[in-house]
Formats: sequence, C-alpha cells, structure tokens
Amino acid sequence: MAETPHRLPVARVAERLRHADHVLIAAGAGMSVDAGFDYNSERQFVSRYPVIARRGPRCRYHMFGYPFPDPATQWGHMARHLEELRIAPPPDATPYTALAALTAGKSRFVLTSNADDLFERTGFDADALWTRQGSYGRLQCLAACHPESTWSALEWIPRAAAAVDLHTERLNDPALHPACPRCGGVAMMNVRGGDWFIETPYEPQGRRFSAWLGEAQRGRLLVLDVGTGFNTPGVIRWPAEQIVARHRDAHLVRVNLHHPAVPAELGDRALSVPATGAALWAALEEAGAP
Ligand SMILES: [Zn+2]
Repeated sequence: MAETPHRLPVARVAERLRHADHVLIAAGAGMSVDAGFDYNSERQFVSRYPVIARRGPRCRYHMFGYPFPDPATQWGHMARHLEELRIAPPPDATPYTALAALTAGKSRFVLTSNADDLFERTGFDADALWTRQGSYGRLQCLAACHPESTWSALEWIPRAAAAVDLHTERLNDPALHPACPRCGGVAMMNVRGGDWFIETPYEPQGRRFSAWLGEAQRGRLLVLDVGTGFNTPGVIRWPAEQIVARHRDAHLVRVNLHHPAVPAELGDRALSVPATGAALWAALEEAGAP
C-alpha cells in the first residue's frame, strides 16, 4: 500500500475510540472505493462493459443519466451492474470487517450514502444503519405511482444477469424486464437519482437513527466520518459536522484521502486524517488499537 501509516495520528484516533461510548460511522463513497468499487475507474468499467464502453461511457459515473437506446440494453447493463455491486462479494471486504472489529462493543450506528449495502452484507447490524440514498437491492416504479411501489430485487438480479447476452450486453427476454407490480409502469433502481426516488423503505431507518442519536448525545459520541466527499456533502459530510457542532461532548474524526479538512470552529474536537479508511484501520490494527 502506498500510504505512509507512520505519519497518521494513530495514537490520537485510538484514544478517541477508547474514550467513546457511542460511535456514528458516517460513510461516503470512499468506503466503497476501499472495497474495490471505484466509480471513476476506467479499467474496471471497460473490462466488464466493453460494448457500452465503445459507445462513449468510460466509467460507472458516466452511466448516471445515460440515455439507453432501448430497454434490452438498459436492463442488460443494470442487471450486471447490480450483480457486481450488490450480489457478488466485494473485491475486498477487509476495510469493513476491520472497522467492525475496531468499533465492536460500542453503541454503533452507520449513516451512509452508499447504495451497495456493504455494511449490512459484512455483518453490521441492519437495524443500526440508514442508507439515505437508497439500495441497489431494491427496484421501484419510475412514475412513483404509490409510496409503497418498491420491491426487492435480490432474486431478480442474478437471474437477469445470467440471462444477459455478453456479446451485446443486452437482456433480450422482455419477461425479465422489471415493471411496477402496481401500475405496470417502467421500473428503476430504488436510489436517489431524481425526484422520482421513493424513500418509504428507508424512513424507519431514519427514525431509528434519530432515536439512537438522542441517546448518543447524552454520552460520549465519536463521529467517524470516512470517505465523504463533495458529490453530495449535504447527505453525510455536513450532517456529520453539524452533529458534532451541536453536542459539546462529541468528537469528529474525518478520514479522507482527498478532502480531509475539518471545520475550524470545532477546534481540538475535530481530527483530520489524510488517508483512506483502509489505511487507517490497518495502521490501528498494527498498533494494537484501540
Ligand atoms: Zn407504479
């Protein structure tokens, strides 16, 4: 690894972890990158989706809002995209299992913008996480015909992915093109990609988060903000800062290779760690922390 762990404030992070009764893990895309899912990677994208790549898109980010020419191309791509990100094991689950071990025994909650459900899939408590941007494990009605028009995609994804013609990357069987069971309309991934996003499945998570945070603010709270950048800072990064600002006994540790800055007004209650989560967890483990 190209990191320089000896320059990281490992002892200070370990002390903050020891001190905390409650740990809020506030995780952004950097945690998915650590697991091997890099939305900017041309190499990963072109090797898995060579047919689409020849039409122009060069990485996963380029597929947001991509105008598919027809449903067979759209569902052929989506089925394999979801199979890769939600069903298949991640290339490297170590950053998640290491973080779980480092925070074991604490009152813990995960707030994340990632839709790959990797926290739940690597053993974090499903009742203590809020996936505010949705989940690749669900589909929804694109017309949002009803607040309950979302459904699990976990059975459909592998079946559809296996039926894709890899020479064309198309899903030619129309019976495998998902449709809304309520209105028969066009389906879409149940992730926040527009004002059509149906949040209903995640509202109970939000209520559990509020209740947990109310408890946590009566004790010693550590907000461990990891891999949150500036694509959607209002979802995780800024709320993480605001939670610490509002609570005198809370601390912020921001672990971020590219955007490690912390608000000056938090003073010594905020610690900036210019590294990936994977590098910091490894350095903490090596130091025998917490
Ligand atoms: Zn519908």
